[in-house]
Amino acid sequence: MLQPMMNTYMDTRGLNADNPAFSDVIVKGIAPGGGLFVPRDIPHLTLDDLKALAPLSYPQRAAAIYKAFGVDFPDQQIEELMAGAYADNFDDPAIAPIKEVKPGLHVLELWHGPTSAFKDMALQCLPRFFSAAVEKQAAEQGSAHDYLILVATSGDTGKAALAGFADRPHTKIAVFYPHGGVSDIQRLQMATQRGDNVMVFAARGNFDDCQTSVKRTFNDEKYNAQLAARHELRLSSANSISWGRLMPQIVYYVSSYVTMASRGDIAFGDPIDVCVPTGNFGNILGAWYARTMGTPIEHLLCASNENRVLTDFLTTGTYDISDRQFVLTPSPSMDILVSSNVERQLFELTDRDGSRIAEWMRQLRENRRFTLDPETFSRIQEVYRADSVDNATCLATIREVYEETGYLLDPHSAVAFKVAERLKGDNPVLVASTAHWAKFGANVFRALHGIAPDAALPDKVAQLSGIELDRRIAEKAGSYVPAGLDELDALPERFNQVIDGSLDGVEGALDSWLG
Ligand SMILES: *Cc1c(COP(=O)(O)O)cnc(C)c1O
Repeated sequence: MLQPMMNTYMDTRGLNADNPAFSDVIVKGIAPGGGLFVPRDIPHLTLDDLKALAPLSYPQRAAAIYKAFGVDFPDQQIEELMAGAYADNFDDPAIAPIKEVKPGLHVLELWHGPTSAFKDMALQCLPRFFSAAVEKQAAEQGSAHDYLILVATSGDTGKAALAGFADRPHTKIAVFYPHGGVSDIQRLQMATQRGDNVMVFAARGNFDDCQTSVKRTFNDEKYNAQLAARHELRLSSANSISWGRLMPQIVYYVSSYVTMASRGDIAFGDPIDVCVPTGNFGNILGAWYARTMGTPIEHLLCASNENRVLTDFLTTGTYDISDRQFVLTPSPSMDILVSSNVERQLFELTDRDGSRIAEWMRQLRENRRFTLDPETFSRIQEVYRADSVDNATCLATIREVYEETGYLLDPHSAVAFKVAERLKGDNPVLVASTAHWAKFGANVFRALHGIAPDAALPDKVAQLSGIELDRRIAEKAGSYVPAGLDELDALPERFNQVIDGSLDGVEGALDSWLG
């Protein structure tokens, strides 16, 4: 059986002197010095371990994997937290069901949670462990601080984090998204968020500007001291740089393999490939950890949109944003140039050489590019395949797949589906589907009607609200609009503030909210 062990964490730049446990790292978010936390020990799963997961429910599988990682909570508490995280807040009893949409192409639906994006898989789970960790610290150290969660979002994280943290004890949450850089529905989802501890800001600039300012706020010691003195708050993160976001994403890849093998899509032990629509590299890194733990995953197929920095990196060994334009695409949650979790991947592939990582990250900051050594690059190539899909092909894929199979993909999932079709070899491919199509109704409408990606919608359609358009698409396509989206038009908009995307803009906005 899985052998639980006491695990501690190291950071990707080798600067962290103590040996924090899981509960410490999820509360801290980012490591001192700007590195990212990774677990010292990665548990190994034998085929028998995988088979033993087969009869378990999704939350039970999640608990078993957390225990194997040596998470520092009692077994029973882990089980209870997982039972709360993955329950009727998801609209499918399987939590993350898998559908074979074309022969050998198995779509993993990661969007059955309350905000209809895959971020819910982690963000229904992390806040529960976060609150439990704050209480554990209070019990052990006698001092409870409250935490201010800062989130930079390209769209979906923001709402999922707000929904996860709303009214959770000992937390406040502030979300920053690029002004004009998210879909209508994504904006509405955030603007209507309930809860007394939540705040939302639109920041001028693109997602990278926004993410950079939030990261700099974390590293601004003077500002942190001031927050502590005036408000008794410490900063923490719910971005995919938090290890607490990564763990739940490992779970669904292990669980999916077990599901596919136990229902006969494959035999136990047969390899599969996994294809992931990638932005910050968190989701696909979850698959890498699942693979490293012993799940029979052969290749990881990394799918990019027109912001193809990752495709180029994985196929050339050079990460280069020195001469790259940021492009807006129909899949905004993948519109990213600086992909944070690449750092964790490189740390693992260099046998955890923190000084080499720190040097590459310095080069990326200063020269806007770095090149891997041949050894590390060949390790990348053993595992990864990558390709990118342009905007027109993305929409054409939605239409093609719908016409051939009756299955409706969102634009992010369509990018992955197309890449999976192109790169598929002998292995069945598990294609991560990361959003319900109704979050991106306007582009799904364009796709189904053969309208170009940036062309205007017909007048009649342009007049509809995002939700009305979704209802029309659903009716014609024999699909449905998830409950959390369907209610949006009826809710009051609470947040509409636009701020400057600079460090001063972010810190000033927080100050005026906190008073
Ligand atoms: C966040 C997101 C992605 C990208 O995931 P990463 O973990 O950042 O690579 C892809 N699709 C959707 C719909 C998302 O919300």
